[in-house]
Amino acid sequence: MEIYKNKGKSKNACSYCRQTGHNVASCELAEYDWHEWSMGRVPLDSKTLQTNVGWWYRENYTHWYRNSRRAFLKIEAARNKSKQTQPRRKTKCGFCGQEGHTRRTCTVMAQVLKDAYQANENWRRAFYQRMVVEEGLSEGAAVRVDRARHSYWSRNTHKPEYAMGLISSVNWDDLSFLSSHGNISPDYRTELKVTAVVDGKTVDVIFKKWFERPDGKVVCTETKSWIYGPSYDSIVGKSEKPLSEEWATEGMKDEILFLLKKRNLEKLKEAGIMDAIDAWKDQSC
Ligand SMILES: [Zn+2]
Ligand SMILES: [Zn+2]
Repeated sequence: MEIYKNKGKSKNACSYCRQTGHNVASCELAEYDWHEWSMGRVPLDSKTLQTNVGWWYRENYTHWYRNSRRAFLKIEAARNKSKQTQPRRKTKCGFCGQEGHTRRTCTVMAQVLKDAYQANENWRRAFYQRMVVEEGLSEGAAVRVDRARHSYWSRNTHKPEYAMGLISSVNWDDLSFLSSHGNISPDYRTELKVTAVVDGKTVDVIFKKWFERPDGKVVCTETKSWIYGPSYDSIVGKSEKPLSEEWATEGMKDEILFLLKKRNLEKLKEAGIMDAIDAWKDQSC
């Protein structure tokens, strides 16, 4: 049975000539046949007559005429469709979502990058001023910590147990303007991590207070992560550490560029990063 033999092919066969490899919208036989019919001639030298349906058309001119006309209408329709200028899909920027440019040429991204670099520099200078110059916190400083373990719920009845320690490390290179605010997603925010040697043991120091400047701007928030350790009370013996210009101006540039390449504006807004950039980008802050 032909229909069975061709069951795999029949799907793709031309509905006019039943040959495979094209469909009716591009059937050259149908186009030729209709050209003949429309000129008032029976297309007796048509190659359609050599196909499997040739005998059927030869025996039934009405059918042949009607089919070739139908086929030609489909050919014409297909031609008109392809002539219509298809609206070209405009390129959309992966960073800002606007059309007509890409991430590479995005002026919004260039500005955000510039602002982020500036925000980070301004924040690092502010952090240095508040934490190192004013607070006296850096490696070698003597620190008073409170070792009393108290739960959040019994805060009112807390009796401190003070101990002295020596600050042994500060995570300078991980700190950025994204450390400044508790609203920033922990995916991006690295908080201040200070270790101190207390009674011969190196421990993490927990910060339960925020560090603000006289103008009220928060430079560093309390420790949010669930690490155990004595909590910070005060520096009792300041340590001096000169400000590294390179740390202030160049630090985190690779990380910030990476972040902007991997994320888009929407994500940066969601994560609180745009707010942090806005808070620190101005030179005067
Ligand atoms: Zn065909
Ligand atoms: Zn863009």
